[in-house]
Amino acid sequence: ARLSPAEQALIARREKVMGPAYRLFYERPIHFVRGEGVFLFDPDGNAFLDAYNNVASLGHGHPAVVEAITRQTAILNTHTRYLHENVIDYAEQLTATFPAYLSQAMLTCTGSEANDLAVRVARSVTGGTGIIVSSLAYHGVTATVAEFSPSLGESVNLGPHVRTVAPPDPYRETPEEARDRFGRDVQTAIDDLRRHGIKPALLIVDTIFSSDGVVPEPKGFLQPAVEAIRRTGGLFVADEVQPGFGRTGDTMWGFERHGVEPDMVTLGKPMGNGYPMAGLVVKPEVTAEFGRRSRYFNTFGGNPIAAAAGLAVLKVLAEERLQDNAQDVGAYLRAGISTLAGEFSCIGDVRGAGLFIGVEMVSDTQAKTPDAAITTRLVNGLRERRVLISASGPHANVLKIRPPMVFSRGNVDTLIEAMRDTLQSL
Ligand code: PMP
Repeated sequence: ARLSPAEQALIARREKVMGPAYRLFYERPIHFVRGEGVFLFDPDGNAFLDAYNNVASLGHGHPAVVEAITRQTAILNTHTRYLHENVIDYAEQLTATFPAYLSQAMLTCTGSEANDLAVRVARSVTGGTGIIVSSLAYHGVTATVAEFSPSLGESVNLGPHVRTVAPPDPYRETPEEARDRFGRDVQTAIDDLRRHGIKPALLIVDTIFSSDGVVPEPKGFLQPAVEAIRRTGGLFVADEVQPGFGRTGDTMWGFERHGVEPDMVTLGKPMGNGYPMAGLVVKPEVTAEFGRRSRYFNTFGGNPIAAAAGLAVLKVLAEERLQDNAQDVGAYLRAGISTLAGEFSCIGDVRGAGLFIGVEMVSDTQAKTPDAAITTRLVNGLRERRVLISASGPHANVLKIRPPMVFSRGNVDTLIEAMRDTLQSL
């Protein structure tokens, strides 16, 4: 199937006016004009099953969020230095979903800004500058955050104050090895920073390691690493931009699966189900220390509309029991892919938590040799069958499956059939 003249024209206009730093998904990019629930629609009205987008966690165009945004837009929107109930209600309800020691919230518009603020707070509170991240981490777009986002590629120089640590490889390491090695590597990174006269300020990880290839196991592997950063006087920041808001099924927040206590948690993506909102949830002793020295103001972060969207999201998550759905449907999806693994030897490993799933594709099951080529063909083959997923990991061979949390067992059956059909055709 080829691109239509209309699609070719859009791509040409986009490249001309937006430049080459932007990349579209797929060998044959897709043009969408509408979304509803777990489906996205192209201009011809074809429905694509969305098994990838975690922003519209409640489903595309959820009526309760649309209503909340529309209603508040008509009533009032201002910057955030007047009193308004919405933002206070929201901060109260949001922090109520966290353990009691994480009781204060600061709001931003994007996950990048949230991570940028986390660094500013950590540096202010610890007096350090060093940052430890996973080897293929992505934490955002600001200049500060890009310096510790190695997944942006070799052309982005990591800061001299940044050290990277390989996350566990649950397919190739035993749980004990994984946990001990990760803890040791974080300690080595700390020692190396110190040797260079750099005081560590924070260890930050995406608690599901999405861009590193989805690493949900072994549960608890973060514990020695968190102990190590604490011993040296640094803070631990859990980046929940991807795993948060119940997606991992067993817990509301990814760090809870590891039994660790972050000093700060950064949030984003699904927080407004598409309305741009993000933020930090912080220990009050940390905000107290930061607030003594600094001020914080964000024109749009936590404005009355954003807060209304966020409140609607929390309400729908609870009412529709979407965390339970993620747990149930996620397990069903993993079982379905495990069945496929019995039919196709290129599926090496199936892992995940709730509706956050990684599938490692290999050319040799014994040697566990990563197969990026078949991964790309599968992702593009699914696109031709109108099913959306993506891939990540150090060898670009891990399928990333991360659908809206309203995904049903019936949707899983459609996805599995499309995967089977594509794999048979390869
Ligand atoms: N942290 C993680 C783990 C992310 O995946 C992303 C976005 N992909 C961000 C931070 C940055 O969020 P945003 O794009 O909203 O700035």
